[in-house]
Order: sequence, then structure tokens, then C-alpha cells
Amino acid sequence: SDNSADFYLPPGSWLGMIGGGQLGRMFCQAAQAMGYKVAVLDPDEHSPTGAVAELHIQAGYRDEAGLARLAERCKAISTEFENVPADSLDVLARTSAVSPGAHAVAIVQDRISEKAFIEKAGVPVAPYVAVRDEADIQGAPVALFPGILKVARLGYDGKGQARVRTREEALDAFRAFSGAECVLEAMLPLDYELSVVLARGRDGATALYPSARNEHRDGILAVSTVDAALSASAADAGSGEAGNTADASLWESDNIDAQAERAAVAIATALEYVGVMCVEFFVLQDGSLVANEIAPRPHNSGHYTLDACACSQFEQQARVMAGLPLGDTRCLTNAVMLNILGDVWFDSDSGTLREPDWRRVLSVPGARLHLYGKAEARRGRKMGHVNIVGATLAQAQSGAARVAAALG
Ligand code: ADP
Ligand code: MG
Repeated sequence: SDNSADFYLPPGSWLGMIGGGQLGRMFCQAAQAMGYKVAVLDPDEHSPTGAVAELHIQAGYRDEAGLARLAERCKAISTEFENVPADSLDVLARTSAVSPGAHAVAIVQDRISEKAFIEKAGVPVAPYVAVRDEADIQGAPVALFPGILKVARLGYDGKGQARVRTREEALDAFRAFSGAECVLEAMLPLDYELSVVLARGRDGATALYPSARNEHRDGILAVSTVDAALSASAADAGSGEAGNTADASLWESDNIDAQAERAAVAIATALEYVGVMCVEFFVLQDGSLVANEIAPRPHNSGHYTLDACACSQFEQQARVMAGLPLGDTRCLTNAVMLNILGDVWFDSDSGTLREPDWRRVLSVPGARLHLYGKAEARRGRKMGHVNIVGATLAQAQSGAARVAAALG
């Protein structure tokens, strides 16, 4: 209800989180560090956030009683995953300040409306068509092959995607997805990937984190790297009032990071976004920039902010919710973030379960371990990450190589 610019909840108040995974857990820890209490709504009794929140409401995301309990306790509510039903956010918004709002989440949780929205905001996307039936594939331009067919909803970490060389393969893949709505997009020649995390307050003020360079393996983020020197000027330009990116040097710059930051702000502004969000980009081999997707929440590629920035993306999320001033997004040190997947619990020779050598990991200078408290290691499951900070980028990178070797 009250989503006005002067909305403020002091420390000691309750903040609500929908979704109890690792993003909710790190939010919870950051909010608690500032004296807030957290209530989390998640159906899983072993949820990573539920283990640390003051209150775990164990109920589904459409459960009326669960939603009512959350709204009763928390005057500000946010989400940690994009698949929360927009209807639930609308219900909560009758009595609590919900950020991001149902409107923004609804656009972003469907790849068809997401891509159309990004284009409308003036930011290029990969050539694509919406696929609702087989005729859409029959009629797709030849330029979309080879391509990727992605289910429009509920995909993550490369799940719900098929790389298709031909129209026939696309038809097979569409049938294999049981006819779920999809987008078919051209496979682009990537030089590298980057992402921009930003926060936007209820007053429209924005704060940008330095962009991260991202490496994916099997469709899952593996490594993010942030060069503090490279990012310093851009972060300065980004923190401040809305529209501050009109700073002439930034708009005129053909620096790719500045372009990405400008595009991310354009998208956030068009969405009238309130909260923390991320835009993933591709940099193509010809040097051009293409937006891939939007996450309406803190993002895996922003985990480096926990150890490299004055204010992490999770503290920032709490600040926006509580109506506190946006935190300082400057990157104070170089950082490499390594994701820890469940795979490292499986011995590479025998395939048997074993505990990773944490003492060896933590013997590396600058290495900081973040584990999410998930009981069961599964291949491809995000179990934690390590941030390696360094006074120089080379130091952070050589530390990261040692951590990677220690993880095996
Ligand atoms: P998810 O929701 O699973 O993160 P993405 O659309 O971000 O789905 O795709 C995951 C990864 O697959 C990307 O980070 C990128 O490495 C690769 N990818 C996705 N789309 C394309 C494309 N059009 N061209 C080339 N690579 C792509
Ligand atoms: Mg992605």
C-alpha cells in the first residue's frame, strides 16, 4: 500500500521475503546485521533462509493463509526469485509495501514479454520469435538457426533450453517441452558476458554496482570477475539521483561497461522498478552489446559485492525495502567469485561423495567462503561460492586459481 518516497521502517522492524533459497538467506543475514527481523515464506521445511530467519512461514507462494501471515507481520516485502505469482504480490501490496511490484515481476518472469519490454526500452536483444505453436517455428526466419529454444517461463541455470541447429530440431525440442510457450533466438557469437546489478529506490534514485564479467559452464554461472580500477568511474557516475547517468561523459562513452550501465538504468526506469535487479548482457564478437535477461532480485553475479563493496547487493535490498538511503556501490577491491556446485562433493575419479578440502580453500589469502547450508549436494546445484579479493586483479585471479585447484 504505502510505497511512497518517504516510507521508512527503522531497525527492529520486520522485513518479509518470499522465497527461501540462498538469495533470501544472504538477504536475511544482511538485514539482521542492521537490526531488522526477517520473516520468510517458503514451502520447504529445510529452506536455507528458513534456517536463519526469525520466522519461517512454511507455506506455498499462493497459500492465502501464509500470505496473510507474512503481510500481517511485515510492512515491507520483497522476493528472491522471479517465479513468485504476480497475483500473490498484488494481494500483499494491499497492506504492505511490495518491492519489486507485481507489474515489473510479471513482465520479467516471461521471456516473451521480457524481450519485448527490453526492446521497447531501446536496448537491443538477440533476434528472436515468440513460439506459441509449431507454426511459429515453421515461419521463423532462417537467420534464427542455429538457435536456442528457451521455455518462456520457469527456466533457470540453462534448464528448459535446447540448442537447435535446424527448424526440424527446433520442432522436436518444442514437442519435448510439451508445447510450453517458448522463445526461439539466434545463437550469437559471444565474445564475453557481463552483468549489471543496480538498485532503485522508491524516490527513483539509482545506484549501480560495477559490471561483472561472467563465465558460464553448462548454462550455469561459474566465475564472475570485477576489476576495481576499470569499474571505479562508472560506479561513481551511477550512484546518486535518478537520471544521473545523463552525466555527459557516460552517455557519450563507447566503453562497453558504460553502455551496459546506461542500458540497465533505462530498463529499470521503464519498469518503474523498486528494489535490486540485474541485467545480463552479451558482448558480441563485433563489439556490440545485447541484453539477455533481467532478474528482478539480487543476482549470482553480484555475490562479489559481499566482500568487495561497501554495501552488498543484499544490504542494498534491505535498504530499499526499509526506505533507507541507498548504500555505497563502489568496489573497494578487485574480486573473483567462484560458484561452488554440488559436483565438488563427488570425487572426480571414483564419483563417491566426499567433503571438499575447506582448510585448503581457506588457506588462500583473500578467499572468503559462503556456504548456503544446503544439506544435500547434487550435481549442478548451487551450494555456495568463494569470493577471492586482491589488491590487484592479478592477485585475485591467482588466488582464484588456487581455490579452484583446492576444490578439485
Ligand atoms: P538462464 O535463465 O538459464 O540463465 P539464459 O538465457 O541466461 O538462461 O542462458 C544461459 C546461458 O546460455 C547464457 O548465460 C549464455 O552463456 C548462453 N546463451 C543463452 N542465450 C544465448 C544466445 N542467444 N547465444 C549464445 N549463447 C547464449
Ligand atoms: Mg541467465
